Amino acid sequence: MKEMNIPKEIPEKVKKTVQNRDHRRCVVCGTPIFEYYPLKKFYTEKPSSSNVVLLCPKHFKEARKGSLSEESLEEARLNPFKPEKSRLGEYEIDFQSDVVQLKIGSNHLMRVFMKEKDSFAAIKYRNFPIVKLEKKKEGLTLTICMIDNKNNITLLIVDNEVVIATLNWTIEYQNNNLIIEDEDKEYKLQLVIDSTNNEIVLTQDSFFFKGKRMLNLPPSNPFEKPKTITRTKGDGIVIG
Ligand SMILES: [Zn+2]
Repeated sequence: MKEMNIPKEIPEKVKKTVQNRDHRRCVVCGTPIFEYYPLKKFYTEKPSSSNVVLLCPKHFKEARKGSLSEESLEEARLNPFKPEKSRLGEYEIDFQSDVVQLKIGSNHLMRVFMKEKDSFAAIKYRNFPIVKLEKKKEGLTLTICMIDNKNNITLLIVDNEVVIATLNWTIEYQNNNLIIEDEDKEYKLQLVIDSTNNEIVLTQDSFFFKGKRMLNLPPSNPFEKPKTITRTKGDGIVIG
């Protein structure tokens, strides 16, 4: 695929405006993970919020390929996906509550955000926060960091924005299920965002690395210590 030459950067001020307008999610489907997509007119006009939209990685690829038309992008820009617009599969991470619960198998953690700017590393792997939630004025934002076995970052999503993606990732968000997977299926992260109970649920099958399940549930025998998962005081869960 021939990549479009990007002759100019999107100014930070424009990014901020676009982020707020598009509710930090894809304008087409509402996935809470986005990249900035410059519309065709961006290349001929002055950069502004009228020529940039937020798209999830899937729709970004489709737009690049042309299978998502410029007209439908323009339409989505004028009428971006809103959480209250649809009932099914709606984007539910803007918890207004200060309490977030995290369930991993039989581990049930609760985090109370004490102030407006507060963060919670829900899952850590070798000191890297894999899943982090941050409380901001606009609501709760999601940070996801995937690393390879050499500690190189292969995917970095900061406050819902894709910052680094060295592998070809598929990111799907459907019915409150967020599934992040690379093309070779070496990494997989799955989480359920449940705003009714203010919960983020990770199951035993939530996190795979090179086909290996990274989250082992604690054994039913309490005397047997789980080897790969530990809880830290007051905060999230540490793997490895
Ligand atoms: Zn999308």
